[in-house]
Amino acid sequence: MNATTPHTPSGESEPVINLAGDTYVVPGPTNIGMYARDGQAWLVDSGNDKEAGRRLNKIATERGWRIVGVVNTHSNADHAGGNAFLQAKTGCRILASVTEAAFVEAPEIEAAFLWGGFAPRELRNKFFEAKPSRVTDRIAFPPPDGKAPFPFSPLPAGLSAFPLPGHFFGMLGVLTADRVAFLGDSLFGEAVLSKYRVPFIYDAASFAETLRRLPNLDADAFVPSHGPVLRGRGELAALTAKNLERFEELCSRVLSSIDLRGAASFEDALADTASAFGIALDAGQYALVGSTVRSVLSYLRETGSLAAEFADNRLSWSRAR
Ligand SMILES: [Zn+2]
Repeated sequence: MNATTPHTPSGESEPVINLAGDTYVVPGPTNIGMYARDGQAWLVDSGNDKEAGRRLNKIATERGWRIVGVVNTHSNADHAGGNAFLQAKTGCRILASVTEAAFVEAPEIEAAFLWGGFAPRELRNKFFEAKPSRVTDRIAFPPPDGKAPFPFSPLPAGLSAFPLPGHFFGMLGVLTADRVAFLGDSLFGEAVLSKYRVPFIYDAASFAETLRRLPNLDADAFVPSHGPVLRGRGELAALTAKNLERFEELCSRVLSSIDLRGAASFEDALADTASAFGIALDAGQYALVGSTVRSVLSYLRETGSLAAEFADNRLSWSRAR
């Protein structure tokens, strides 16, 4: 997800583009990977909703491919929203990391996580909750210690998965035998960054670490879920740098709020940060940007910049002394 949803469907002309060998991308609001061999197609993610699922199935069928599996980079509704339709239609397998599988199978957790309690009705919709689907295969990664080599976990022949922690709980990337890497929401295209301003971040330390490691990925083409395909590691390094810059800017905006006020509540830090980025909060963005700001506050405290204390029954954030 970006800091704001929903994505609106775009009317791109080319339904599916061959990137190399058996590897294709279906460009859209969420780019979908297709890996097709011997009439069988594996998808990387399934799009926003039932309509996306239907369209992907049509694209595959028209080419004589049967969809046999979906690998979800993560569970956000814009990535797993087509799962239920595709699984009902084709009986396909669904692969997700252990933590993301919990969200895929019980999507109400997503809105509840973002809200931090029972979600209000503004979050109980398809932009925050995909239709549930059954994960047939869980991919286990060792804990993200920053040392795991890219890539290391086997999938069906021709595909491998690697961890991309940070944006969401157990996000993964997929590398195909044609040296194409699908990168989920580990980084965003420039237009997306300037439109949504603040990328969604669950674990800020891992988010930054994943970005720092991305340019080491040994592949020829790289597909962010939201943004144009990157041809070569030079383009990947340049976009990674832009995303890291945005991350640093986010941290410094949160710190500025606290510096300006001396001590700030979460609500203060969120309001100041949103304003600084020119974001007008509504319920959805309050949940998304708010969750990200909470994560950044935890990160800044863990890395020694901030202190948190309770005063008059309020949690107050200030500079660490
Ligand atoms: Zn997304």
